[in-house]
Formats: sequence, C-alpha cells, structure tokens
Amino acid sequence: MQKELLANPVFAMAAEQFDLVADFLQLPDDLRERCKWPKRLISVAVPIKLDNGVTQVFYGHRVQHHLTRGPVKGGLRFHPSVDLGEVAALAMWMNWKCALMDLPYGGGKGGIACDPRQMSRGELERLTRRFTMEMLPFISPEIDVMAPDMGTNEQTMAWMTDTYSARTGYLVPSIVTGKPIGMQGSAGRTLATGHGVAFLSTNALYKLGISIGSATAIVQGFGNVGSHTAKTLAAYGVKVTGISDASGALWNSCGIDVDALRVYVAEHGVVSGFPGADVIDPQEMLCQPCDVLAPAAMERAITKDIAALLQCRILAEGANGPTTPEADRIIDERGDIFVIPDILCNAGGVTVSYFEWVQNFQRFQWSENEVISKLETMLQKAFEKVTSFADRHKVSQRMAAQSIAVKTVADAKSLRGLFP
Ligand code: GLU
Repeated sequence: MQKELLANPVFAMAAEQFDLVADFLQLPDDLRERCKWPKRLISVAVPIKLDNGVTQVFYGHRVQHHLTRGPVKGGLRFHPSVDLGEVAALAMWMNWKCALMDLPYGGGKGGIACDPRQMSRGELERLTRRFTMEMLPFISPEIDVMAPDMGTNEQTMAWMTDTYSARTGYLVPSIVTGKPIGMQGSAGRTLATGHGVAFLSTNALYKLGISIGSATAIVQGFGNVGSHTAKTLAAYGVKVTGISDASGALWNSCGIDVDALRVYVAEHGVVSGFPGADVIDPQEMLCQPCDVLAPAAMERAITKDIAALLQCRILAEGANGPTTPEADRIIDERGDIFVIPDILCNAGGVTVSYFEWVQNFQRFQWSENEVISKLETMLQKAFEKVTSFADRHKVSQRMAAQSIAVKTVADAKSLRGLFP
C-alpha cells in the first residue's frame, strides 16, 4: 500500500527491508500492518527571528514509530535534507534497534530542515527552544525522549532540557539524553556510538581470524560517530588509512594520525587541508582494499555500483541505513563481506542513552568504566544473538538482526492485543 505522506526514497528503503523480514518471519497480515506503519507523525512550523531581524519559518518533524514497548527513543537531526519521510524511516530503524538491544523503548526520530553550519549559536538556540515548545504536547520522559543526531549536540540537549523544565517548574533531566555531564548527562555518552562501532568491528575481526594489529580501516564521516570510530579503532591498534567528510577524503597508507586530525578539525571544521595525508576521491576511497569499512555519514552511501567494487572484509555500518537494498543483494551474492548491520553496529549511542535515562531516574551517576563495561556486555550479547541467528537460518546479518527485532515488537503487540 502507498502512503503519500511518507513518499521518500529512504522510507521506501526501510519499508522494503521490513517487507523482506515480514515475509521471512511469515508475519500474519494484521501484525505486519501494525508493525510497519508509524503511530504518530508530527510536523510543526518553527518560526524564529534570524540575527538580521528577518523572521523565518523552518519545518520540524517528529515521528513516533511505536509506543508498544515503552517511550519512543531517538535522535533529533538538523540537516537540509530532513523531511517527514526520511524521519519516518529513521524512526522505524530506531524501533528495531531498541528492540534488538532489549531496551524498553519504541523508536522515534525528529529533525528540522535547516543548515546548522550556516546558522549562528543564537539562531540555533532559538530554533531548538521553539521546536521544544511546539513539541510539548507530545513529549515526556514516559512518551518520547530525544537525543543528539546529525547536526545537534549536547548543547542542543541542554537547551531542550531547560525549555521543558521551565514549563514544569523543576529540572526534568530524563526528558532528553546526550546532555552535558554538568547537566546530568552520562559519562561515556558522547563516545558511545563510535566506541560501539569499533568494539563490534574487533569482534568481527576476531570471528574472521584477522589479527587486530595487522588490520586496516577506512571511515566515511568525521562527525561524532566517525571521529570516535576512527579514534577507538586507532587506539585498538588498527591502521586507519582513509577518512572522509563532506569536504573531501584523506588517504595515508601508513595510517592517518587520528588524534592530530581531530585537533585539525576542531580548528578548521572540516578534514580538507589536513597536512598529514594525501587527497583521494571520496567514492574511490570507499573501494580501496581494507579490513574494516565504516560508513558513518549519510544513509544510502553504499549504492549497488559501489557494492560491486568494495574490497573490504567487514562493513561496519556506523550510519543509519548506509546500504541500499540493491547493494545488499550484491553483497549477499558476493558472500565475501561480513556486514555488521546498522541497528546493531551503531546501537552503542542509544544504549548509553538508556543508561543516562536510568541514571536520571535514580539521581545517581555511574563512572565511565561502569558505562563502557555495561555497554560492551550488551553489544557483545547482541552480536552473538545476531551471528548465531544468521548461521542457524542461513540468512544475512541484516535479515538476522531485523528479524530478531521485528519479532520482539510483533510479540509485544500480540500480547497487548488490538483495542478496542
Ligand atoms: N541518534 C542516535 C541513533 O541514531 C542515538 C539516539 C538516542 O540516543 O536516543 O541511534
């Protein structure tokens, strides 16, 4: 069935993946229908005064895929490509991610169509606060808990907490996660997603019998996820030979000094111009030989043309939805690439968000060691669950991960029943 409201290539991709999983699980038609479609789609005008005195209306969206297993959880992104369909796809993937990780959440995602790089701090603060105001009827720590995503960060979460708490009259830290430590954020949250990508990559290297000390990696994206993935991989002893962002791609076959690049990017904002590496075409970079390729930027980066040319052993999906279904089919046919699918690979962020939410209710702070060791235990368990399902049923890692997740949601829906 077509739903015009959701017409978007990213939503079409999430829906196609879902249909394959529902077929594999032989999900009855009623459950298939209830699991697939998002529960709430909210779009709001967000008018703000720009620094030049002009008033501009931005559009913000929030999609709450399901509340069957608890409040919805997921990020808020500021990016020019944001629309309702893209947000709905990302909300659906968050739903499966939370279910796979056994977190007591449904999935949600939000976004505002804007270019945060072109906006001042004051404009971003006004945009964030006004969006939070518009969302007040639809959010609470028991309904919808947002977090950072592309183009947003812990400062965004601090403004959201303040705006929400100003209405209640007391601090409600559990309204969002990914807050600054000084505002009851969790130790380890900022690095959690990238740490998880790197940790799971080493699990996969181990499974394939490749020694970490001899392994090489290429990372697409150098935002929060990509930079922490590269940093952690390098700290484990993996040689990171390629790194890119929207400004261009870097190559150094002896290994890029990731810490030096992080310092460079903190100063210049982009990887381009970094003196410690050569320039390479960003698409070509993806197809160079390596052990781990980590796409950690936008969705649909690995197209069918790129999939045919990949020379990696492991595809570690740091981004949400980086591989198109056509590319998936090619990767499945090739059979020589071990995929760590997005809903597993980048689940470190939402898992530590869950820890943050729990700590906020407990009014207690865990140490970074405690957070990271609990995170690694949960990721390891999910990794084993997915690989053993894939081996047992002779299906791809993505099919395994999504099947476990969709079944968890479908079982919860069956238990709750259809009302009235
Ligand atoms: N935006 C992140 C994701 O896509 C984290 C969501 C969260 O922490 O709630 O998984």
